[in-house]
Amino acid sequence: MTVYTTSNSDETATLGAKLAARMWGGEVICLTGELGSGKTTFVTGFIRHFLPNARVVSPTFTLVRQYAVNHAAIEHIYHLDLYRLKQRADVVHLGIEEYINSPEAIVLVEWPEKIQKFSSGKKIEISFAHAGDDQRAITVL
Ligand code: ADP
Ligand code: MG
Repeated sequence: MTVYTTSNSDETATLGAKLAARMWGGEVICLTGELGSGKTTFVTGFIRHFLPNARVVSPTFTLVRQYAVNHAAIEHIYHLDLYRLKQRADVVHLGIEEYINSPEAIVLVEWPEKIQKFSSGKKIEISFAHAGDDQRAITVL
């Protein structure tokens, strides 16, 4: 377990980019923490490691956004934001079973609590918490 403290949103995005550089494909990254704790900011940095000019907006209404990337092993990044989902759903109902454990994909999920238990060989859990003013405590399990 590693705990990082960031002091502004750029630092959180940079942390996302640093973690992105260590991915091999097939990872499912679960991002937990209250609204405004920095999850989407982190995802923006993560995606920009692969696509420097990407416009990353949280898929609050569409649930998922797909990014095609140019990388030897990774073809797509999927960013899910399940905040608005009324009930917990399983991966089949969400339509994500095709790529949730695909070796060519990375899946980043905000509000993973909304997905019913699923198995993943490469699950990474990251939690975000306010730590005063613009500080955020980011814990990578
Ligand atoms: P979430 O996706 O968890 O709801 P966002 O990343 O969308 O959170 O929003 C985080 C908000 O907090 C943004 O308005 C951002 O500018 C602000 N902020 C302030 N300090 C930080 C920090 N250290 N890390 C990330 N965001 C920060
Ligand atoms: Mg968000």
